[in-house]
Amino acid sequence: MADKRDYYEVLGVSKTATDAEIKKAFRVLAKKYHPDMNPGDKEAEAKFKEAQEAYAVLSDAEKRKQYDQFGHAAFDGGAGGAGGFDFSGMDMGDIFGDIFGDFFGGGSRRRGNDGPMKGQNLRTSVRITFEEAVFGCEKEIEMVLKDECQKCHGTGAKPGTTPETCPKCGGKGKVVFTQQSFFGTVQNVQTCPDCGGSGKMIKDKCPDCRGTGYISNKKKIQVSIPAGIDNGQSVRIREKGEPGINGGPRGDLLVEVVVSRHPIFQRQDMNIYSTVPISFAQAALGGEVRINTVDGDVLYEVKAGTQTDTRIRLKGKGVPSLRNKAVRGDHYVTLVVQVPASLNAEAKEALRKFDEVTGNTLKKSAEGTGTAEKPKKKKGFMDKIKESLDDI
Ligand SMILES: [Zn+2]
Ligand SMILES: [Zn+2]
Repeated sequence: MADKRDYYEVLGVSKTATDAEIKKAFRVLAKKYHPDMNPGDKEAEAKFKEAQEAYAVLSDAEKRKQYDQFGHAAFDGGAGGAGGFDFSGMDMGDIFGDIFGDFFGGGSRRRGNDGPMKGQNLRTSVRITFEEAVFGCEKEIEMVLKDECQKCHGTGAKPGTTPETCPKCGGKGKVVFTQQSFFGTVQNVQTCPDCGGSGKMIKDKCPDCRGTGYISNKKKIQVSIPAGIDNGQSVRIREKGEPGINGGPRGDLLVEVVVSRHPIFQRQDMNIYSTVPISFAQAALGGEVRINTVDGDVLYEVKAGTQTDTRIRLKGKGVPSLRNKAVRGDHYVTLVVQVPASLNAEAKEALRKFDEVTGNTLKKSAEGTGTAEKPKKKKGFMDKIKESLDDI
């Protein structure tokens, strides 16, 4: 029993974790290690079972209390714990249905294989530009989709023959493993390894689909991407996923949108951010500057005496709301006063003149106070400005 990990440790949560935190932690682990996602991976399967067990205890207030008090011994009836309990008969399917939502097609795969079942969802991604995300766009993507084989009508059996019932699972498509462990009997329902869950074995395979029952074809699919979509969000296209089973509807196609970076604009939620350079003269005297927005250039009147890093707001020039195109965020522009890196003689002269009439800082610094750290080289006016800006 020493090798049994602490349930909190297994889920990676603290001892004071809330029910929601526990559920969230389990959801993450279950997705990562679920056998459906890791076929044939024994280590993932073990991790999945470990997480499942930890979740079964910690999600139940009474069992969690017992565990907090007695540790693993709480469920070890033989060791004189608090009575112990039996995991058998515990329906993990409920938990999956509850927490996975449509992640596994609404958990329908676990519900046996008699009735019609919705097909699995498919996932893909599409790259769009910044502007396409802001204003929405139409994209065409290519997907390999499975369709029911016309020759065998999805049975996978050569026409004229019929599939036989799988002897391993008796046609149920799933098998029950009963495991004996120190805390009692654990029952695990798994997809039948022999028939892959179909409940049927095909002796003479259909030549067209080689027994799969499906034909794969490349299909062009139109994706309408709504205005305001953000990087990482997905568009759901109904019934473009895997085919349904026993006449059930197809699964959906989830297209994740990957938005390319823009050279000028950055986005946060519905707002756009950018920086615009303005000259010292524009900042000091005021004047019109041209600002690039997603709606094209706008002319903005900069106030006289504008300091560097002044942020202005262009109302309604941001990203539209996904729910209502008419509602838009704002565009925030940071005005950055530029210090010219090189000046011609005439400009230098003009600046010296300017300095003379505005406080004579160049002369003052030349006279200096004789402190040691003062560099020998006489500093230019712009160097001074640069320094004082750095200090801000
Ligand atoms: Zn076929
Ligand atoms: Zn079987």
